[in-house]
Amino acid sequence: MIIMKSENKAATMPLTQLLSDLKTSDQGLSEDVAAARLKTVGQNTIHRQKQQSQLLIFLKNFTSLMAILLWVSGIIAMLSGSVELGIAIWAVNIINGVFSYWQEHRAAKATDSLMAMLPTYTRVHRDGKVKQINALDLVPGDVFDLQAGNAVPADARLLEATSVQVDQSALTGETVPESKSVEFTPGEGKYAESNIVYAGTAVGAGTAKAVVIATGMATEFGKIASLTEKQSNLTSPLTLELNRLTKQISIIAMIIGLLFFLTATFFVHYPVNQSFIFALGMIVAFIPEGLLPTVTLSLARGVQKMAKRHALVKDLNSVETLGETTVICSDKTGTLTQNQMTVNHIWVPTGEFTVSGQGFVNNGQVEKDGQPVSKVGTPDLNRLISIAALNNDTQVENNGKLKKPKILGTPTEAALVILCQKAGFDTAAHLKIMPRVKELPFDSRRKMMTTVHREGNQLDIYVKGALSDLLGQCTQIQVNGISREITAADKESIDAANEKYAAQGLRSLAFAYRSIPFKNQTQVDGLEIANAEKQLIFVGLTAMSDPPRPEIYGAVKKCHEAQIKIIMVTGDSQLTAKSIAMQIGLTSDKARVITGAELDTLNDHDLKEALQEEIIFARVAPEQKYKIVSTLQSMGEVVASTGDGVNDAPALKKANIGVAMGVTGTDVAKDAANMILTDDNFASIVAAIEEGRVVYSNLQKFLLYILNSNMPEAVPSALFLFSRGLIPLPLTIMQILTVDLGTDLLPALGLGSEAAEPGVMQQPPRAKTAHLLSKRILWKAFAWYGAIASVISTLAYFFANLQAGWPNRALLSSGVGYSRATTMTLAAIIFCQIAAALNCRTEEESIFKVGIFSNHIIWVGIVVEVLLLMILSYTPVLQSVFHMTPLLGQDWLFLCVIPIPIVLVEEGRKWVQRKRKRS
Ligand code: ATP
Repeated sequence: MIIMKSENKAATMPLTQLLSDLKTSDQGLSEDVAAARLKTVGQNTIHRQKQQSQLLIFLKNFTSLMAILLWVSGIIAMLSGSVELGIAIWAVNIINGVFSYWQEHRAAKATDSLMAMLPTYTRVHRDGKVKQINALDLVPGDVFDLQAGNAVPADARLLEATSVQVDQSALTGETVPESKSVEFTPGEGKYAESNIVYAGTAVGAGTAKAVVIATGMATEFGKIASLTEKQSNLTSPLTLELNRLTKQISIIAMIIGLLFFLTATFFVHYPVNQSFIFALGMIVAFIPEGLLPTVTLSLARGVQKMAKRHALVKDLNSVETLGETTVICSDKTGTLTQNQMTVNHIWVPTGEFTVSGQGFVNNGQVEKDGQPVSKVGTPDLNRLISIAALNNDTQVENNGKLKKPKILGTPTEAALVILCQKAGFDTAAHLKIMPRVKELPFDSRRKMMTTVHREGNQLDIYVKGALSDLLGQCTQIQVNGISREITAADKESIDAANEKYAAQGLRSLAFAYRSIPFKNQTQVDGLEIANAEKQLIFVGLTAMSDPPRPEIYGAVKKCHEAQIKIIMVTGDSQLTAKSIAMQIGLTSDKARVITGAELDTLNDHDLKEALQEEIIFARVAPEQKYKIVSTLQSMGEVVASTGDGVNDAPALKKANIGVAMGVTGTDVAKDAANMILTDDNFASIVAAIEEGRVVYSNLQKFLLYILNSNMPEAVPSALFLFSRGLIPLPLTIMQILTVDLGTDLLPALGLGSEAAEPGVMQQPPRAKTAHLLSKRILWKAFAWYGAIASVISTLAYFFANLQAGWPNRALLSSGVGYSRATTMTLAAIIFCQIAAALNCRTEEESIFKVGIFSNHIIWVGIVVEVLLLMILSYTPVLQSVFHMTPLLGQDWLFLCVIPIPIVLVEEGRKWVQRKRKRS
């Protein structure tokens, strides 16, 4: 088999030859042939080449500023005679480097694998049928359909094309859309051949049918992509802020180290090399190793959790922004509602029909005034049914009475297909008699769709669309099969019917037509929106229900409690929009409804004023969302905005969080968005916001925890210094390092995966200007948790000293007594940290309420922490390295009591805070 290259050759050669070279026809391949080809050519996917080897990424973790500082410190420690300390510092560095690499690797994997959860589908012609397949399974020779919003899945030559515009910016960088057609014109520059569409580009407008000439790495896009690797983006403002923070803390650590060095040398008259080692230990203790990768991993975990709740976040940045979201601009159809449309009523000038019937069988259950109407119906009803059936691109496969029908197309049109089935209309037979010769596809700006059908010497122009747009194009009305001029009274009764349906939250769709004599093909080709969709004959209306999603009520309530404003921005009519908004508790009946037309006339000031009130936007074109989003942003709001169509892309890009629909959304919208909902459900946005808030608050808990141990690490050294060495060093440098990297690590990780604290969604959104490391956290870490731990660990030190005969210094410095005292200081710090880990788990809620054992990782951390302490104090070799002695029974008793008052005092503080908040 020949795999054509997408060069001019495929564009210029006669189509018949191209098809025969590809061993296919304009009807596409058979399933068997396609399956065989897939085996030989492989899947239609781009393998990007790895730019950076894993080894390099691994080594990067050992060459950062902080790592270099630690390497040098280790060497200095060794040179100044403390080989043990040198090795310990290097060990810290190595553990930290490996740990960082492991965390980053997992974070990258977590975010990478998510994208695989979102397959792209293509409508392909196989075995004479149109099927939806995963674009990965496309092979050369396949014939597929394209429409506005589709990503072009492979390089292909056009077989049919109606007003096709393609955005080739991914290939050429050129943002002006290129027109494509069946006829070949070379165009200027690369990829400009008019009859070829390229993989990696996207259809902005029109519809087409094309034959695949190359897939996967053989496509032009594949060739470019093979040169570069798109690294998953792991930097966000948050990580940048942390980077800065780590550097700042490192500098502060060095200043403290220098101060300690000078004090030890000149004030305490410690030997210079000892002072040096002492200062080094302090520096290492203060530097927040492992902070950045842990944060990255926490964010990546947040991404994974969001994915489980049906929200795929494309970058870590968005996890952070989600927590700040203050406004959600949401579509109605499919996001707030189920997108399961059913036609309930039909209105024609001669009467109103109620549609019933649970099943989708051809039983003619179209009723008038409760009585079934014969399948023949009335002439007006018949005309409406025939427009609904023929002006329709959707296929519905019935899977028996019990199963939901499978829809290939849109739910609106599917509802019409089912209606026509109920009415016993044979679409296929009609299409044979009056085949479709032209289509002007639906677009959400003009809110209409037209198909042209030829029956002998007559052309029937069938139009359906939003009543507000279509009625203006109608000059006549059909009554009892006869058309006459439409009067103001007719329009009034049509509007009245429409309003009645809309007030019930039903969506109405209007139908019209016109017949003209057929002259020739040029006449058909010349039919465009301007000359086809005018002077129409109005036929009737359908009203369809689309019930709200069941989860929506809870999600809306949650947003209100979390002070997140929801603004419905819909293409549907005012009354329908308001009725649904009120039904789901989004707004009261006082809400103002602004239409797209009105929005255009509003100036900036008036729009801002309106946006502060309860508001709904109806009959809005997707482009107008951009204005709403940007105005909200200029008011300081952090905006999440939903969208699914091609024209939604600018607003999705503009929004702080662009949210695309994974099921019904176009590839273009998904590409422009930061987050994709795999279930199209509004409730999933709220779930993601909740996760975003949880991730952020867990990071703060984590920071609070790792910072608070710095105080009890530094205070003992300060005691030693400021007593001019009168109080022997209560905690040796090796012991400081033990706390810093040994015992602190695991409980800290546990805090990163703490479950949502009750009440996260009952607080206002976080301010955009808020810093992760807030003053409040610093205070809490140093002046509250840190101070408590310092006092208790110092007490433990003196307690051990007293027992050993304080203030007999000779006794203290003589081995066992001193070792026991320092062991007690270390052990007391560890037990204070156990309390801190539990206390950090909640900001306000009692940990007894959230369940003291509910976070298993923390408990694993605590057990490991205590085991480590035991190993260090009971293993003879380690005893001498870490200056430890076995603790006595009474010591353990003292230690085990420590966490109790600390937890209880903090519980008291939380209780006061809760009380204060409630009052
Ligand atoms: P939302 O913006 O909340 O998703 P929507 O689905 O009503 O709401 P659009 O898809 O832009 O928004 O549709 C706007 C209007 O166009 C609809 O209210 C309907 O009257 C009309 N319409 C929708 N689909 C079609 C179609 N396939 N053919 C003709 N008209 C349609």
